[in-house]
Amino acid sequence: AKELGKGQARFYDPAMECEIPHKLQRERELVDAIEREEFVLHLQPQISISGDDCLRVEALIRWKHPTLGLLPPADFIIIAEDSGLIIPIGTWVLRRACRFAAQLLNDGKKINIAVNISTKQLRHPDFYKTLTDILTEESFPPHLLELEITESCFLEDLDAVILLIQKIRKLGVTIALDDFGTGFSSLNYLRKLPVDYLKIDRSFIQGLEIDRESQAITSSVISLASELNIHVIAEGVETTAQFDFLRCRKVEYVQGFLFYRPLPMNILLNSFGQIKVF
Ligand code: C2E
Ligand code: CA
Ligand code: CA
Ligand code: CA
Repeated sequence: AKELGKGQARFYDPAMECEIPHKLQRERELVDAIEREEFVLHLQPQISISGDDCLRVEALIRWKHPTLGLLPPADFIIIAEDSGLIIPIGTWVLRRACRFAAQLLNDGKKINIAVNISTKQLRHPDFYKTLTDILTEESFPPHLLELEITESCFLEDLDAVILLIQKIRKLGVTIALDDFGTGFSSLNYLRKLPVDYLKIDRSFIQGLEIDRESQAITSSVISLASELNIHVIAEGVETTAQFDFLRCRKVEYVQGFLFYRPLPMNILLNSFGQIKVF
């Protein structure tokens, strides 16, 4: 259950009884997991419809839990954010992603890697230094790194966050606005945000075959982004009908189970040359 705001009534729910101890246990396990580096990154390719020079992938974390097996982020990212453990975890993800892509680059295989950055992580005072340290230490060219942030980054101290993002973009790192359409944003607001890519949330893509609202929103986001010179990525593409709709409206990148699921690093390595880019 999500935390309720202060002063909101809360009905008794027997399931709550065991929720707190469970959360605390997970949190303790996470501390050990960081120590033992029990995490792995899976990589999901993003397909360029117009034909691109280099493969783009998004890094997605999984936890190799000692008894429960491979856990998806839904099972631990919120706990990590609430406890502050997202800072060391997020740093590990960033370093691991840059190291992997730098190794590939050394083998003559160029990929652009996108890393999810929690709002708490981005807004941490050390974030910029951590980022530049990792890029230097892993000898990774900044222009091959993309940071995926969400609209919640801009909820507070808008001007300061915009300055930080501009500073990051000066390094050559690109910024993608993730889950677009699910937050507070109005289309008008997008003009102010210094982003290079916009990812239309899966919920709209899933709605393309079902409701005209999703179609209308998707179409207007695509055309507005193009006028603002922001690249568009459609996420969660699962069917050819969805893909056809997006292709007709000149979406540049698509990502989803129709093309690839997130892949373990070694599989991506082995199939590097075969990953289709239209
Ligand atoms: P997200 O950033 O929106 O990532 C996309 C999620 O959609 C991924 O789930 C991906 O596996 C899934 N997905 C991709 N294509 C399809 C599709 O065609 N259909 C469906 N149904 N799903 C698809 P995943 O890997 O479970 O990650 C969930 C969320 O956890 C991510 O959502 C992101 O918010 C968060 N996350 C993942 N890795 C990290 C990380 O390293 N750091 C942080 N802070 N958050 C992360
Ligand atoms: Ca993402
Ligand atoms: Ca997303
Ligand atoms: Ca999402």
